[in-house]
Amino acid sequence: MPLGQAGMPSVTELINRVHLSTDSTIGCPIKPRHPGSPLAPSINLSCANEFADTEALSIAHENKYSSVRYARDSSDLIIQLEVYLSALHESTSTCIFQSGMAAIDAALTTCLKHAETILTVGSLYRKSSGLIKLKADECKIEYIHLDSIKDLHELKTSLPDKPLIFLETPSNPFLEIQDIRSLRALLPDSIIIVDITLQGLANDKIKIHNFADIVVCSCTKYASGHNDILAGYAVTKDESLFKDMWEFRSMRGCILDSLSAYLLIRSLRTYDIRIERLISSAKVVLEFLKYNRNIDRIYFPGSCENLRQEKLFRATQFHGGSVITFRASSLVNTRKNISSLLSTKMAPSFGSIDSLIEIPALMSHWGKSKEELQTIGLDEQVIRLSLGLEPLDYILSDLDLLLKDHA
Ligand SMILES: *Cc1c(COP(=O)(O)O)cnc(C)c1O
Repeated sequence: MPLGQAGMPSVTELINRVHLSTDSTIGCPIKPRHPGSPLAPSINLSCANEFADTEALSIAHENKYSSVRYARDSSDLIIQLEVYLSALHESTSTCIFQSGMAAIDAALTTCLKHAETILTVGSLYRKSSGLIKLKADECKIEYIHLDSIKDLHELKTSLPDKPLIFLETPSNPFLEIQDIRSLRALLPDSIIIVDITLQGLANDKIKIHNFADIVVCSCTKYASGHNDILAGYAVTKDESLFKDMWEFRSMRGCILDSLSAYLLIRSLRTYDIRIERLISSAKVVLEFLKYNRNIDRIYFPGSCENLRQEKLFRATQFHGGSVITFRASSLVNTRKNISSLLSTKMAPSFGSIDSLIEIPALMSHWGKSKEELQTIGLDEQVIRLSLGLEPLDYILSDLDLLLKDHA
């Protein structure tokens, strides 16, 4: 196995298989390989497509979701990307959006029509929880937040028939895994949306789309991996949810633009090799941190402080990714040291070719009171590192600088 993880799908291989497939349901831009095939797709910036006659137009209307007429609805590159991403999720239906948040907005708007209560579980991306509060207010529906799926057991009997549940796995910044299978077993009739951004692509052992109604992912992170585009997708097995999201996208105009779609396809072509390198660097960095005297705690999926989740981690993901959160000892002046790093940049985001570092209390959780931060276990000693593709020596020497104490 290329990634040292038995059974882990290769994104390149899945893309190759799409082009070899003779499946007639596959949309127009997917061509089987032939002598003279371009290796990279063409960038077509046209906003409108011409029809030869009214017959061709009516065929396009009948095949609305797989044809190309106006670029706010779809385009060749978008359909190509959607076919690739659907293949990653076992031929579900995919909608691509101009950002992860646009995908989350579409998923929430579509599902809220069917729900009476919205429940969120575990820590959430700040803008997602903001958007959920806004939507709950707008729709005048009840909003409940729970710390863990366990808390649902007590609440279960008092819940309405169809709650909408939104959660992320793994969570940020402490990288805890949510047991989506047990959630589905507990509430079989609920509507579940799962954000798998921190998992990345092709890192899902349980085929999460079989347990969640909609799976959303920000491609701005691991999938694009170059910090040069915003993008997101939503996949579902449910045709009617897919059609609703597609219509939402068409009405709101939040489809991914063609240049970004091209760049995302470019990024998928290097996905395996990027992830392979990130996984192997993460292993080395974890060992380095474990033996550093100025590290108090390390958070990584299924290990270190999250060791109690080892079994769940092994059952659900192929690897833990390249984001590592840790607590530096009180001897370390994190504010000062983080400004002295040579190749690691202090910036939000993760999963890219650039090593990025942040103090969540000063970045993603900026503006929260000390007490609010304390309840989620954050202070200025907690650091989130996202590994990039720099030579490991550079990363490790930056960590030496970061963890220097003032003693
Ligand atoms: C970044 C992120 C988002 C939002 O994605 P954008 O592409 O920035 O809109 C949503 N959820 C999680 C977990 C993220 O990390």
